[in-house]
Amino acid sequence: MQVGLVTVGDELLVGDTENTNASWLGARLAERGASVERVVVVPDVEDAIAEEVSRFADRFDAVLVTGGVGPTHDDVTMDGVAAAFDRPMAEHSDALTYFQNHDTYQFDNLTEGTADLPSGARLLENPVGVAPGAVVENVYVLPGVPDEMKGMFDSVADEFTGTATSVEFVHVDAPESSLVEALEAVRDRFDVTVGSYPGDSVRVKLQHEDEAVVDEAADWFREHVDEA
Ligand code: ATP
Ligand code: MG
Repeated sequence: MQVGLVTVGDELLVGDTENTNASWLGARLAERGASVERVVVVPDVEDAIAEEVSRFADRFDAVLVTGGVGPTHDDVTMDGVAAAFDRPMAEHSDALTYFQNHDTYQFDNLTEGTADLPSGARLLENPVGVAPGAVVENVYVLPGVPDEMKGMFDSVADEFTGTATSVEFVHVDAPESSLVEALEAVRDRFDVTVGSYPGDSVRVKLQHEDEAVVDEAADWFREHVDEA
């Protein structure tokens, strides 16, 4: 399954907030065997959100959107998603019931528009906070607050599928440039997917659908390099 991520928030663009939602979702989806094809960061601007959501919804099997679903003036994500599908925002009966049953909410004081979602959406309850999420066709809209996003993703995680791969990391104590031959050799010999990430040591990532193949490849690779 191919997935696109749309992370919404002015604060992400200027570096006030680190985009940990994208990295967390990337890891969870990879574990499930779904492949993240693109991540985009967009400002809290309805048209920008609509444009990226529409593009990703056409191109990928599923789209995950995070951020900007709260009740404050700068939260326009649901409007952007509705616009992407040419649907109106409308009071949602499940959202009304959801707020009615939510202890932290004074239902009588529900402000105009609070229970609005893109028309025809499936409501996603917020297991940690208040603001609900929604599913519109193949687009899943989750909150920006990391703990709320994680809780809500867990409730739909089963809808993201694929062939999970086994992974093994080998840490090498040598400059990356000296590993060129060994990296090529392990890839060709075992048909594993190889990643190489330099830092204090070089982290070499080996991946294959068959765990036994990854084990064999990692053993072979360790014998041909200096492990850190
Ligand atoms: P709220 O109901 O609290 O308004 P929200 O869904 O509208 O939630 P935002 O207003 O976009 O979410 O962000 C809420 C908090 O979550 C902010 O502190 C923001 O910095 C953080 N946040 C938003 N997006 C991300 C992200 N991609 N990675 C990490 N933190 C994020
Ligand atoms: Mg908000």
